Amino acid sequence: MRCDVCESPMARWDLPPSRWCREIWICTWCHAVTQVGTVDYEVLRFPYACWDLRWEAAWSDMLPDAGRHAYALRNATLCGLEKPDMEGSQFGMWGGRADDCPDCTAAAQTIDARWPEDRRTYEFRVCVPAAPRPEEEPGYVPPADELGRPDVLLPDLPPGPVGRLLPEPASAHPETGFRTIGDGPHAVCLPAFWAGGGLGPYRPFDEEEQHFAWFQAYPLDSVPALDEESFTGDFAWFGDIGGPLDHRTAVTDPIAAKLADDGLTLPADFVALITRAHLHRCLDRVGDCSWTDVAGPVPSPAHPDDRMVLFFRDQQSCIVWYLYLHRDGQYAVVCSSRDYTTEWELRYRQDGEIAELYWCAPSVESFVYRFLIEGTLIQAIRNRQPTTELTPEALTYLAHYLTIAPHD
Ligand SMILES: [Zn+2]
Ligand SMILES: [Zn+2]
Repeated sequence: MRCDVCESPMARWDLPPSRWCREIWICTWCHAVTQVGTVDYEVLRFPYACWDLRWEAAWSDMLPDAGRHAYALRNATLCGLEKPDMEGSQFGMWGGRADDCPDCTAAAQTIDARWPEDRRTYEFRVCVPAAPRPEEEPGYVPPADELGRPDVLLPDLPPGPVGRLLPEPASAHPETGFRTIGDGPHAVCLPAFWAGGGLGPYRPFDEEEQHFAWFQAYPLDSVPALDEESFTGDFAWFGDIGGPLDHRTAVTDPIAAKLADDGLTLPADFVALITRAHLHRCLDRVGDCSWTDVAGPVPSPAHPDDRMVLFFRDQQSCIVWYLYLHRDGQYAVVCSSRDYTTEWELRYRQDGEIAELYWCAPSVESFVYRFLIEGTLIQAIRNRQPTTELTPEALTYLAHYLTIAPHD
């Protein structure tokens, strides 16, 4: 393929084809990008963008100042730094910061100068729309077991308990909407819910409850109950979690050292999630634009002697998840719409409730278990997969929402 901008050869990027993009071609001279076989376009040619708006910031756990560099491709920055885990940042573009890497700036300007002035208009690079898909044709009737259909037909559910899901019905205790971390008079009491994405027509994202970007607060007694006692921190249900990665223990070790000064320790399930080769970034793969990003510890807005470690957030930081470490050693996963690693404020509502900090899960392992099942379901529903492709756990999880009456 020749570049339509500068006539130079384009090189195909050796990424495996996906449902979202069959092929990616990049010009070897002007770096123009052409994608083939995307959801909306047979040929998608990205138009010119100014040199300081064009590149993603680099992102790597192995380079403390990665964000100063522009991410090129294939685990490398424009200035030529390479790290095996490097990719484009999920948290923003590169350029315009006072501490931008000068070599990346020079490279970005050099590449920019290769675009002829008359080929920089938005219309110059022509796109070819994709042919309509069968499901977009009028009169299309989805198969009975196609996910996303409100009356989807499920195959027979596995008999008996499945994975770590408790058989229905859940607890007989009335849901209070609050959970405590810590014991006795020193316990921290927080509003509690599960913040999750909508599960298609089965658990709508309808903004009828508090919501953060596309995560909605679902009451705890409305989500499938998990056998919380079974989560012992070993991720046995996950399979092989792999060995610890040096560049990830380099992230957790300093946090553990700071917590040790305060007599606190990182729980084993948190350390496993962040450092083990196969668990590392497992949330990101189903996170729908939420990403692992570890920072802290910081004091809790609920009590200055408690600590929080940020570990996961959505792209715009509309929702941020933390490990909450109570000073007595208990811990839980909490979330907030605030990034307490950059702004620390004590915020109490008039009724004494701590605003903007919400209990989500009793352990990191339990949080990961539910998040992965829901993420798998969200993707399967979006891709209109047949229900037979779901795991027994995901199938049973979904069945929970088909057996509860729709609210009106
Ligand atoms: Zn070119
Ligand atoms: Zn650089």
